[in-house]
Amino acid sequence: MKKKPGNITKENSSLLNEENISLNSMPFIFSPNEGRFERITDLACKFFQVNHAKISLNESARKWFSETAFSGEDEKAKVYFCGYAINSKEPVIISDTTKFPDFSKEPLVLNEPGIRFYAGYPLNFEGTNLGTLCLMDNEPRHLKDNELDILKDLAALVEDELRISKMDATQADLMKQLDDARREALIDHLTESWNRRAISQVLPSELERSIRNNTPVTVMMVDIDHFKEINDTYGHDAGDLVIKEVSRQIKNTIRPHDILIRYGGDEFLLFFEDTTEETGSFLGKRILNQIKKTQIQTCGLSLQIDISIGITSLIPDKNTEISEIIKTADAALYCAKKEGKACARIHTFG
Ligand code: GH3
Ligand code: MG
Repeated sequence: MKKKPGNITKENSSLLNEENISLNSMPFIFSPNEGRFERITDLACKFFQVNHAKISLNESARKWFSETAFSGEDEKAKVYFCGYAINSKEPVIISDTTKFPDFSKEPLVLNEPGIRFYAGYPLNFEGTNLGTLCLMDNEPRHLKDNELDILKDLAALVEDELRISKMDATQADLMKQLDDARREALIDHLTESWNRRAISQVLPSELERSIRNNTPVTVMMVDIDHFKEINDTYGHDAGDLVIKEVSRQIKNTIRPHDILIRYGGDEFLLFFEDTTEETGSFLGKRILNQIKKTQIQTCGLSLQIDISIGITSLIPDKNTEISEIIKTADAALYCAKKEGKACARIHTFG
């Protein structure tokens, strides 16, 4: 009968001599390199007078740590012993690896570091095996009962640290969910662009960067012309489709990091960092042309629509108020509307 890994204990480990245990499907395991774990393995090395002490964790526990909490080296090559012990509910103790056929052929036994002694104590959390705390040495040796008790206590310390890691991970998860919820509250669901609330959340940091770099910004207000007519003639759904399509076309025309905010019903605010008035004017024309040539299919018809644009550009300083920039772009939009629509107008800021 084949012996299960879980049955190899200090008491019966000699049985391994006669067993031919299959170690083919070893799991990937990982060792955290955080100081709090290293303190425990250092203590274990000193107390047990062994060459190596190591904490090996399986995939479930790994999720609780950041990527940087691991050395990044491929652990598969090193997992032979720990991978074996990681599935065990009992401590796995191998007093002399050369006496066990499977382990004796292991590179870690044959070559550097030439492991002869191995003791792995299971790490358990809420009834699940998460890994092992293990000791390895180049000399064969036996563990006394009181030494096994100490190993158990050290494993309990590791389990406490794992519990804290899980709490930290849960906390980080909650923070992320909160972030997602905050982000969600700033999105306009019809156009999937930022909504008006995002102005106070997104634009201040953009403006600050431009102030720091002393670079110009351009802000545009875009409003669909005769939009009420579309609603009145073709219905609200057709109006929604037009708003969506205008937003999509604007997004396709601007750079990915330019900011598009649905400011109101049929009105959009655009923020371009590192953009002069000259470039802003060029961009305004490009957006006008893009919308003009877009055919929107609705109610069996192909609609062609226009927009009006108000533009202002400036090099912001610490006294620059976002609300004042918007006001100036809005005044420029008002002029564009007054001067016949389907055009862009620029107002100088300040
Ligand atoms: P102008 O050419 O001067 O811009 O006039 P306009 O007809 O476009 O009128 P205005 O911009 O003042 O009107 C915007 C309209 O948009 C008013 C409102 O009923 C409608 N609206 C606001 N939000 C939505 C929406 O989410 N969907 C639809 N379909 N209509 C909306
Ligand atoms: Mg309008």
